[in-house]
Amino acid sequence: MPSARIPLLIVGARVLDLDGDLDDPPVRDILCEDGAISAVGTDLAAPDGAQVVEATGMLAIPGLVNSHYHSHDVLAKGMFEDLSLEHWGVLAGPLGSKRSLAEVRARTLAGALECLHNGITTVQDMNSAAPFSDAVVDTIVDAYAEAGIRVILGMTVRDQSQLDTIPWIDALAPAELHGIIGTARDEPAAQMAFLEAAMERIGDSGGMLRWALAPSAPQRCSPGLLEAVADLSRRRSLPVYTHVYESRTQRIFAHERLQAHGGSAVRMLEDTGLLGPHVSLAHAIWLEPDELDKVASTGTNVVLNMLSNLKLKSGVAPILEYRERGVNIALGCDNCSCSDVQSLLQVMKLFCLLAAVSTPERTGVTAAEALRAGTLGGAHSAGLSGSIGAIKAGHRADLVLMDLADPAYLPYNSAIRQLVYADSGRSIRRVVVDGEVVVQDGRSTRVDEAALRAEIESLMPTVRADIDRLQAGYVKVRPYIDEVNRRAWSMPLPIHRHVGLPRP
Ligand SMILES: [Zn+2]
Repeated sequence: MPSARIPLLIVGARVLDLDGDLDDPPVRDILCEDGAISAVGTDLAAPDGAQVVEATGMLAIPGLVNSHYHSHDVLAKGMFEDLSLEHWGVLAGPLGSKRSLAEVRARTLAGALECLHNGITTVQDMNSAAPFSDAVVDTIVDAYAEAGIRVILGMTVRDQSQLDTIPWIDALAPAELHGIIGTARDEPAAQMAFLEAAMERIGDSGGMLRWALAPSAPQRCSPGLLEAVADLSRRRSLPVYTHVYESRTQRIFAHERLQAHGGSAVRMLEDTGLLGPHVSLAHAIWLEPDELDKVASTGTNVVLNMLSNLKLKSGVAPILEYRERGVNIALGCDNCSCSDVQSLLQVMKLFCLLAAVSTPERTGVTAAEALRAGTLGGAHSAGLSGSIGAIKAGHRADLVLMDLADPAYLPYNSAIRQLVYADSGRSIRRVVVDGEVVVQDGRSTRVDEAALRAEIESLMPTVRADIDRLQAGYVKVRPYIDEVNRRAWSMPLPIHRHVGLPRP
């Protein structure tokens, strides 16, 4: 169903186009009709009834695409630090499950609004909410529609327990503590049937919602579940998101436990029909050279998440290896309970800076390339190339107006470099999604943010009490997770993804 929006004419902005002048973009008008950009040019006439936005002195950039995100733990923002991925996973893994619908609505809205305030107009939400229910999924979809953000939604599926997927932990930790680590195994057929029914029932929210499939990680799924995901993806042309090799311990796990697939999570995906241009591998840090080649030769995407990877001690993804192989790179901000912020500006800057940690040579990784990954790379990973990620006629009207009077642009030397290296997002004045201004001067035009804040404050005592309970269980298993990581780190690998060698 096409959007029935009043036309929007943006007048006199410097329009940043990755194919054009990136240092001093030309002044243009942008006409948006029916949610799409109908023209970019000079002296465009306003159609009858159009909203006219005067944008002289503004930089217009394409809306940013947050290509790896989880909305289920937004309310745990800022609660944890100094945890490795394995520790964080046991502690924070259950945060999204068995929550009230009020919490589900509030956390989805809060996360969506933070994204919008930071210039993110599309979010790819890999959502872990258990147990599946129509009410939970409807609440998530409705909250996204209320916020006015474009969403690609994949409800996470898995059928292996947490205990199954951390090496040696079942033997190291006493049996009475296994429940804290996680022993639940979901039933694959029921999960897949639920998802297909939800897609049929809900549709695409007037084009603002695209469904995706989200097997949690190869090692967390049986081959049968991955094959079912591949089949549904083929039948309904759906993108697929999964986590691959986020940590060194996960790399070791694959060598030890995925022997049926040559000790490789990437081979496991290939064996079950899950590599290709419709598949995105989140993190993708600890791949070995033959796996990097396989990702490249199959056209599979990677989604890099520098903030959460650094916060969870996971290492640095091999940015240059992907670049040399021509792999499509998208960028994500990941969970609020680990990266704490939904800011693609921060991720784009880290993308540029971290590319250079392993070489003094020129890397070719520039601010323009970071913006490409944060817009067109994300669009490609979502199967939305040609639809989002650029301010061009025919694309959906998703864009951000940034004030060049902000100190980040004083003096104004290069729009692209100051956007990526200097601007914190403070300059954002308007955010447009599907032709509608959804953020203006720091406020949502759709959601009463003061009321949402009050609502969340009323929910937080329950959230905090439940997290305290999780913490109390977690400290009992913490020494065994330490031992797992020590063992994994003591085993040799042909690759390094930390700065310097592991400490002895
Ligand atoms: Zn993730």
